[in-house]
This record gives sequence, C-alpha cells and structure tokens, in this order.
Amino acid sequence: MSDPNAPDETNSLPIALAAVEREIALACRDARRERDTVTLIAVSKTFGAEAIEPVLAAGQKAFGENRVQEAKAKWPALKAAHPEAELHLIGPLQSNKAKEAVALFDAIHSIDRPSICEALAKEIVRQGRAPLLFVQLNTGEEPQKAGVAPADADDFIKRCRDGYGLAISGLMCIPPVDDPPAPHFALTAKIAARNGLTLLSMGMSADFAIAIQFGATHVRVGSAIFGHRPAASPP
Ligand SMILES: *Cc1c(COP(=O)(O)O)cnc(C)c1O
Repeated sequence: MSDPNAPDETNSLPIALAAVEREIALACRDARRERDTVTLIAVSKTFGAEAIEPVLAAGQKAFGENRVQEAKAKWPALKAAHPEAELHLIGPLQSNKAKEAVALFDAIHSIDRPSICEALAKEIVRQGRAPLLFVQLNTGEEPQKAGVAPADADDFIKRCRDGYGLAISGLMCIPPVDDPPAPHFALTAKIAARNGLTLLSMGMSADFAIAIQFGATHVRVGSAIFGHRPAASPP
C-alpha cells in the first residue's frame, strides 16, 4: 500500500512517484487491465512550483489542483516550461470562476449543479476549448460535501447533456473518509455504465488500488507523491 508518510523532500519526490506507479501497475495486472487505461493525476494542491518541477521532470503529465486561483498562480509558468502537462480541476467550482477554469484546465471533475453547467457551457463555446468533463457524485450523501446525490444522478447527467449541451465523459466520487470505499466505487461505476459514461475519476492515496479494481480510469493521488500537506492548508 502507499505510505501515508511518504517523504516530502524535493529530491525524493520521483521515488515516491515511482512507488505509486508500481502500485498502479500491480493493481492493473490484478484487475487484468492494461496500464494505459488508468491515468495517474498527481494532486499538487498546496505545493509550490519547486515541489512540482521534479515530478514533471520525472515524466508525470497529469496534475490536479482544487482551487482555480491557486492553479492560476502556479501553472501558467509550469505549463510554459512543460507544454505536455495536463491540468485537472478536482475541487469545487464557482460559476464566476468558469471563465478562468475553462481557459486553464484540461479536465473539470466537479460539475454538480445547473449554475455551473450554464457557466461552463457558455465559456466552452466562447473560448472554443473542450476540457474533459466529469459530474461529481456525493455517493455518501454527506451534507457538507459537494456532488450530486446518486438518486438524482441520471436526471442531472441528462440535463447536462440535453439542457446545456455539455459533453460529459465521466463521473467522479470522493467516498466518506470513514467508509470502506469499495461500495462507493461500485455505485459510481454502475451509474456511469447505465448513462453511457466511460471515465471514472475515483481513488486517492489511501485507496487508488481498490478504485482500479472497480474500473477507475483516473486516480487522484496527492500525499503518496508529494508527502503530507501542511495541517493549516485548505483540504
Ligand atoms: C486532495 C484531493 C485528492 C488527493 O488526496 P490524497 O489523499 O492526498 O491522495 C484527491 N481528490 C480530491 C478531490 C482532493 O481534493
């Protein structure tokens, strides 16, 4: 399993990345899946460019950020130096940030309400960009958590497509911290399948191998690569 106390000195980052890579390869083998069916998103939120650079240099392409403003401050320079880098928004999106989000991100994992659909649809047309789009599910129905309730998912996905013309590609979920994640991954996969969605953004440092068993195509791994985030930092 990934080490939650993974080292966070800059020069050990590629070692932690290699360990995560090995675990993904093993999980793919166990699930009889090809390695290239799973995209590793290195979640670099709260970490500065000096921590991200060595991971880019080690060949990692996909990165996740949870705040538009933070990504805007860090990523234009990193992307200029590494044009192959691909940026994923994995945190909540406000409608008034849709313009910046569409301009900066290659994928948006947190679509969960009509106001976001409307703002994204407008910017996608206006900017002529087509980020990969995921609807976020709140599979644990936690009141404090973003995401669409499982019972509302089919209607919401249909509304995204037919009402707003959004090309939704997949579903994202964040299981409750205290629950075994497997039933949440299974439910997310089931809702995706019946809606014809092929991408599944699920699995974090503690459970990405399990998520791969359940069909994850995008695993979002932060602390196992970058080390612990400072306690005072945002989630
Ligand atoms: C921070 C975050 C992650 C990464 O979490 P780790 O436990 O550090 O791997 C994944 N997904 C989302 C939505 C996050 O906010």
